[in-house]
Amino acid sequence: MKKNNSLDEIAAALKKADTVLLFPHISMDGDAMGASSALCAALRKAGKTAYVVVEEKLPDMVAFLDRGYCTEDPKLTARPDVCVCVDCGEYKRFPKRKTLFRTGALSVCIDHHKTTEPFLDLNFIKEDAAATAEIVYELIPLLGVEIDEEIGSLIYAGIVTDTGKFQYSNTTRKTHLIAAELLALGVRASDISIMLYQNERMEKLLLGARIFDDARLFADGRAVISCITEKMLKETGGRLDETDGVTESLRDIRGVEVACLLKEKTAHTIKVSLRSKKDVDVAAFSEKNGGGGHTKAAGFTLNGYSVEDAKNMIIQQIEELFL
Ligand code: AMP
Ligand code: MN
Ligand code: MN
Repeated sequence: MKKNNSLDEIAAALKKADTVLLFPHISMDGDAMGASSALCAALRKAGKTAYVVVEEKLPDMVAFLDRGYCTEDPKLTARPDVCVCVDCGEYKRFPKRKTLFRTGALSVCIDHHKTTEPFLDLNFIKEDAAATAEIVYELIPLLGVEIDEEIGSLIYAGIVTDTGKFQYSNTTRKTHLIAAELLALGVRASDISIMLYQNERMEKLLLGARIFDDARLFADGRAVISCITEKMLKETGGRLDETDGVTESLRDIRGVEVACLLKEKTAHTIKVSLRSKKDVDVAAFSEKNGGGGHTKAAGFTLNGYSVEDAKNMIIQQIEELFL
């Protein structure tokens, strides 16, 4: 299996197909949604039947980007020629859709996570792409499709979210050049940013306040940990699917290098979100715990732990990173 087939090979396989299904990861973020929907829109422009297959309600933050791309309807997704996993590279990142994914005659992975290993028929895993949407930006013209304002807006949403609004170290000259091209196509960057970042429910912000209230600094102030429990959700009216950005806010604390947020999904299943500022590789840390991600944004899921036990275990592990 090759880590990288060429984008030309992937484009050729997509051009041959009639029906293509796109599979973004669970807990969709702007990049998973933007990259998969942009590719979906482009494939439709090329005359294909294409859908983004999802397995959960779209998070509020990205729902506005869906113009009929996303579906859970099995009638629409039967007998795909090609199935593409987008912005992820493991079945456990789209667990309920694994069986459907495997019905595709050909499978493709398009991703930029450093922990992704090639596992499908065709793979394009580019660790230094700031967002999977950047890869999609390069792939679409190879399909013979012109990027229009709609497709461009989806790509822009992917890039702006995964680069932390062009702040993170994954942001390159190329990232800015692509963004500039998208603006030239008429993409309304400020409108997209308002939808992504200035459109919060009050309940989400109240939940954020509780998370900060609960936050505990450790490792001499170089790390911070907090959690979201069922009780906090109930008391604030916040939802687990709208906590995007909170781990980043914890990381923003002066002196903090690593931020960790525990999300109690069900009793004893905890999703762990990690962010680092400069030097610590949280992808390696997450991989050791069965997850993965990027150097500065990664995560994993713990089963069989209470929030307290998970917290203590992680504090100990993170303290060791600073020894
Ligand atoms: P999150 O904290 O959920 O925003 O995730 C941060 C980054 O880590 C994203 O790029 C995710 O795709 C990745 N990630 C999160 N959880 C996992 C996991 N369990 N396995 C692999 N990658 C993950
Ligand atoms: Mn993602
Ligand atoms: Mn991404």
